[in-house]
Amino acid sequence: MIEMLRRSDLRRVSILVLSLILALAAVAVANEQVDRYAEIFDPAHNPGRLTVRFLQLTTRSDDKSGDSTILISPDGLVMVIDAGNPTTYPDVDRALKTLGITRIDYLVASHPHVDHVGGFAQLIYNYEIGAVYTSELEYPSSHYRNYMKAIADTGTPHIILAEGDTFMFGDSVFVEVFHPAPGIEYFDGYPNNSTQFVNNHSLVMKLTYGDSTFLFGGDIYTATERELVDRYGDRLRADVLKVNHHGANTSSTKRYRDAVQPKVAVMMNDGIADLRIYQNFQKLGAQTFVTSIDGAVLVSTEGDGEYFVLSQYDRATSFLD
Ligand SMILES: [Zn+2]
Repeated sequence: MIEMLRRSDLRRVSILVLSLILALAAVAVANEQVDRYAEIFDPAHNPGRLTVRFLQLTTRSDDKSGDSTILISPDGLVMVIDAGNPTTYPDVDRALKTLGITRIDYLVASHPHVDHVGGFAQLIYNYEIGAVYTSELEYPSSHYRNYMKAIADTGTPHIILAEGDTFMFGDSVFVEVFHPAPGIEYFDGYPNNSTQFVNNHSLVMKLTYGDSTFLFGGDIYTATERELVDRYGDRLRADVLKVNHHGANTSSTKRYRDAVQPKVAVMMNDGIADLRIYQNFQKLGAQTFVTSIDGAVLVSTEGDGEYFVLSQYDRATSFLD
């Protein structure tokens, strides 16, 4: 009797151990997801195409990691829009190095918050920079002073952009600046309690390459979106949208979504800011990505209104849909 009990106990333990091993193996299989980092940052993909790579940044502090996008024109010029918070610099640096980039022709700051310009000083000191492009918004903070000092130290040209400006990104990509208007009026006490004010003064830029269009609006909120729709209407239409303010519900109103009508919408975020905002873009029929889940996202085009779209990871679950 005693021996039988022992045997059944032994069997029970064996089954437990076996189950545990199977469970661990299942987890291992689930975690063994594809990683297309090398494919996404393969410079062989670039020639003749406008390529736009939305980076997955990983914060190494308590701050939000932020936004960073690397664009390469069909003739090989490089634009970087935003460069994350300072601790994400290794991610930006790795992406640039993998792409074989040593010179950034256009380093663009959407607005001077740390999750957008935190990496600027390091980029300016470590890379050859054609020019830094910002709005005229000044923002007295330590990281702002750091990158302004880097611009001064290195003698890098600093070009101020405002509504109505246009310029060429290489020979074939046309850039229009929709916002902010020239002549920023600061309120008394600025920069105290200025988060919304600064976000609403983000540069809004549309890039057009033939029939292909991209829209970047930094962290603008609904108030600025509303102004833009009133002023520009259908001119906001863009096939590829960098979703405003990391996909937060401060932004992305129905009017704005309807005006832009993106086919691809990308949110750069450490998580998901608001599931409804995500779903709103999905319902619109946009291929919607969140870098916290999908990793880096590559969107490229030959200027024919058709897009090659690739995310670093596959979705392990469909809980978002
Ligand atoms: Zn931000």
